[in-house]
Amino acid sequence: MLRRIASTDDRVRKMIGIQLGAISFLDEGVEQVLDIVQERASANALFLATFSFSNGTAGRQLPGHPFPGHGKQEYDTDLRGGNFARVHPQYYRDSGIDPGATQAPDYDRFDLLAEVTPQARNRGMGVFCLVQDQFPSNFPGIEKLQEHDFNGQRAETLCKNNPYYRNFLAGLMEDLTRSYDIDGVMFVCEYQGAFSNTIGSRFRGKARGKPGSRTCFCPFCKEKAKQQGIRLDRVQQGFLELEKFVAAGRSRQVLPDGYYVSLWRLVLRYPELLAWEHLFHTGVREVYAIMRERLKSVKQKASFGLHVWHNATMSPIYRAEQDLEELSRTSDFLKLALYHNCGGPRLASYIESVGETMYGDIPPRELLEFHYRVLDYTGTPYPAVRKTGLRADYVYREAKRGVDQARSAPVYAGIDVDIPVEDADLQKQDRDAAQSTRQEIRSAVREAFRAGVQGIVISRKYSEMRLESLSGVGDAVKELGLQIS
Ligand SMILES: [Zn+2]
Repeated sequence: MLRRIASTDDRVRKMIGIQLGAISFLDEGVEQVLDIVQERASANALFLATFSFSNGTAGRQLPGHPFPGHGKQEYDTDLRGGNFARVHPQYYRDSGIDPGATQAPDYDRFDLLAEVTPQARNRGMGVFCLVQDQFPSNFPGIEKLQEHDFNGQRAETLCKNNPYYRNFLAGLMEDLTRSYDIDGVMFVCEYQGAFSNTIGSRFRGKARGKPGSRTCFCPFCKEKAKQQGIRLDRVQQGFLELEKFVAAGRSRQVLPDGYYVSLWRLVLRYPELLAWEHLFHTGVREVYAIMRERLKSVKQKASFGLHVWHNATMSPIYRAEQDLEELSRTSDFLKLALYHNCGGPRLASYIESVGETMYGDIPPRELLEFHYRVLDYTGTPYPAVRKTGLRADYVYREAKRGVDQARSAPVYAGIDVDIPVEDADLQKQDRDAAQSTRQEIRSAVREAFRAGVQGIVISRKYSEMRLESLSGVGDAVKELGLQIS
């Protein structure tokens, strides 16, 4: 029987990673930033937002949120993003777009990996590239890689069954590994299939509940479905019916059999709805395998890891598709987003969303209790959870679940350090007051390690974290006496 390395073994070096974008090094200086994250948070690895068009992982603080007290006190509302290292086009083949155009134009000739890696190495720090599955819709030629919605319109999201996109991601893996001395890549894919999207089974699902998210119906997906014996006419009919169901729910119409029964009737009549959902996730997992294979073909020792979307701790359907045992067999690490603080408003918004569709018969307070029960963690009742956030029990139980299930790969807990609370239903003063304290962050880190994780990744990005909060991470690392060098 395989014996996993005991994660409580203090002789095993623990990962204390932190996510950072290029702008922080430009604003504050490379050595200064490294000093701060080492001294305050005991960080021993950098997760650099190398390929990102998102101001969630790259750029400064989000507009409208308070500055963290370091870095430039300016918002960068016009971030374009892309590859913040140097693009080497020779490694990309048949990707459908000009790889050179992915070069981030934002910071002149600043090469994130070339500037930071040598200095990180001098300090014995690990270097990982964060790669985010996202392109802006105005990127030149991107329509060739985009998903198609139900009506044949192009969506902003990128199709995981599209061979050009697969080639692009494989080329990116080759480029990063051949061109730089990195320890690995963490891929961030925060998407789910059309069934879950249509019923709004995600945080902020109500706001994003436009049925237009019924993707992907591009020729590649249709062909793949056909080969698997999935009848497209039935899929389309099923989604038309599902849309009517969601529209009825969102307008609070009374259904003779209620919402839960009606949805089951629909799914039983059109099992293709679930087949389509599963087809999406299968495509995502194939992409993971392609990226990992290319990475390993260049550098066997490099790690390919996954960021597991926060939604896996809210939506039981999404969780069901994220089989950590299965994912751990094909990844070198799993970073689980266990964001305790912003998790509160996110969970409340999830409950409100599915509380108008699948679970339209159940009052939100009871619905949240049901979710605590089936997801197996505790928290404050609805609607208080919106203000209180989730706390240490959530981090412990979710981390423990990850450690118990991911048999073959180390689990890193993604720790929420001042992730902005984006919640239109919270007053601004409540949003600002909903920030986590140094003490709470310390507890979250302690609970993650008590659950047996092999590391943490301080999230989402340094440019939004207060220094006091980073010290909360360092407090826990020191108190626990973790092996970090
Ligand atoms: Zn497609």
